[in-house]
Amino acid sequence: MPDASHSAPRRLDVVIVGGGLAGLYAIHRLRRLGLAVRAYEAGAGIGGTWFWNRYPGARCDVESLEYSYSFDEQLQQDWKWPERYGTQPEILKYINHVADRFDLRRDVQLNTRIKSAIFDAQANEWTVKTGTGEEIRARYCVMAAGNLSTPRVPDFKGLGDFAGRWYHSGLWPHEGVDFSGLKVGVIGTGSSGVQMIPIIARQARHLTVFQRTANFSLPARNMPMPADKERRHKAEYPARRAAAMETPFAIGGHAKPTRSALEVPENERNAAYEDKWQEGGSISYLYAYTDLLVNKASNDTASEFVRNKIRDIVKDRRTAELLAPKDHPIGTKRLCLDTGYYETYNRPNVSLVDVRSDPIDRITPDGLTLKSGAAFELDALVFATGFDAMTGALNEIDVATTDGANLRAHWEGGPLTYLGVMVEGFPNMFVITGPGSPGVKTQMIAAIEQHVDWIAGAIDHLHSHQLDRIEPTAAAERAWVDHVNKVADATLYPLANSWYMGANIPGKPRVFMPYVGGFDRYKKHCDAIAARGYEGFTLSRHETVAA
Ligand SMILES: Cc1cc2nc3c(=O)[nH]c(=O)nc-3n(C[C@H](O)[C@H](O)[C@H](O)COP(=O)(O)OP(=O)(O)OC[C@H]3O[C@@H](n4cnc5c(N)ncnc54)[C@H](O)[C@@H]3O)c2cc1C
Repeated sequence: MPDASHSAPRRLDVVIVGGGLAGLYAIHRLRRLGLAVRAYEAGAGIGGTWFWNRYPGARCDVESLEYSYSFDEQLQQDWKWPERYGTQPEILKYINHVADRFDLRRDVQLNTRIKSAIFDAQANEWTVKTGTGEEIRARYCVMAAGNLSTPRVPDFKGLGDFAGRWYHSGLWPHEGVDFSGLKVGVIGTGSSGVQMIPIIARQARHLTVFQRTANFSLPARNMPMPADKERRHKAEYPARRAAAMETPFAIGGHAKPTRSALEVPENERNAAYEDKWQEGGSISYLYAYTDLLVNKASNDTASEFVRNKIRDIVKDRRTAELLAPKDHPIGTKRLCLDTGYYETYNRPNVSLVDVRSDPIDRITPDGLTLKSGAAFELDALVFATGFDAMTGALNEIDVATTDGANLRAHWEGGPLTYLGVMVEGFPNMFVITGPGSPGVKTQMIAAIEQHVDWIAGAIDHLHSHQLDRIEPTAAAERAWVDHVNKVADATLYPLANSWYMGANIPGKPRVFMPYVGGFDRYKKHCDAIAARGYEGFTLSRHETVAA
């Protein structure tokens, strides 16, 4: 990579960090305002999550007819999803199609990591620097760096001495990995672990799964896309997309629940859960009753139904009990979807090791050992240990202002934002689906489109009023963070040690980060704030100083 530190800075209206679904849509949408935009992407290709996460079994867990862009009717009519849930290669193919179709590539710079973003208060512009010293100056900075884009490999002693190969689900080799004939260890049983374990089990000589926390998983019931389903969905696409906006998870097609789980006799309730279990999908299950995420007693009925399913499927009683989650209510951690996950533990070549009661002590040249001294021989090791979620990517960039503000310092006690979109003290910097936004609790492409559209509206508003700076007030930011916490505290979410809380990263502040008041409510709130002239924001005009 050439050293660009001495060339003249590139000038843009909007600099975008990240070339995933968010960064790409931002290019398209902001171009329509006539702005000069460019996205900088650390990876060698576009697609973000779907570029990096190439582990076996990687696929979305929201149906693809929903998990796709809605901004162009012809695009959603033309694209054919071959299966109910798109695989990683299929979603990546779709993203590349979108980039070509809307001529987005010319404004994406790949293999370029943004290291710092400094706002010059006098010049009223952001200076963004790349890892090779290239400098970009822009009025606006859009952080589309992803919520689950900073893979986390636990700091195990001895990893450097491991004689076999090791992998992280979020940094999977492009050429794939053949585990045939190998003794494989998988550490982690969240969404990625649950997707890959059944497939690795079919290849490996022996698979040992090291589980710290059991997670709830429901059957995905993936299948080839039924032609009539596709036809019906496409005939009603705009109405379906609009209906999704009126739901808490931005996912349509599910009847709104009307009753508490406790209002229903047990046999009727279990029959309803059975229907949802057979139907497949997580939203449908959590949407069976009105109060599964707010009332512990109601949730217990849904949690116990799934625990009993696990006990029915897994033949070894001890393994079944280890797999049945008991430390959090169902839905309060990211609910996994699987294809044959629990059944996999009935295979003779698969074993489950509980590393909550006996934690991993160290990696050794030929495997790993637990605190008790128990040793496991492994040829390959897979970390399905997740990400430094929601704040990881932004905290890796030096974000600061010439007025002395520093994002890491501002977020030391946990992330503070207004609407999850802007941060007090950091003018003209927008975050897509940041902490304080409902993003990660939704069909994320819907949230991405809503955020980007809102940001485009804000910039358009500034320009049409001859203004050039927007930033939230401290009071608005504080009130929003309080609201996010209050809403979360009224639910069961804080009962789980989840990545929503930063609990998977040692030393990270335990703050509940997503807004769980519902996408529908959030969107209306954002729209109302814009309609009231961007209430809670200071909008101003600054004479810019030519560089
Ligand atoms: C395995 C997996 C499965 C998922 N399944 C679903 C699902 O079924 N449904 C759903 O709604 N969501 C799902 N998600 C969430 C998913 O992240 C979002 O749906 C969506 O892809 C996010 O897009 P994004 O552009 O915001 O972020 P990302 O896709 O994470 O893209 C961000 C990009 O920014 C780049 N970047 C970060 N920092 C820098 C920097 N400093 N300089 C330059 N580039 C940088 C990264 O390399 C990355 O490519 C899943 C996530 C994972 C990890």
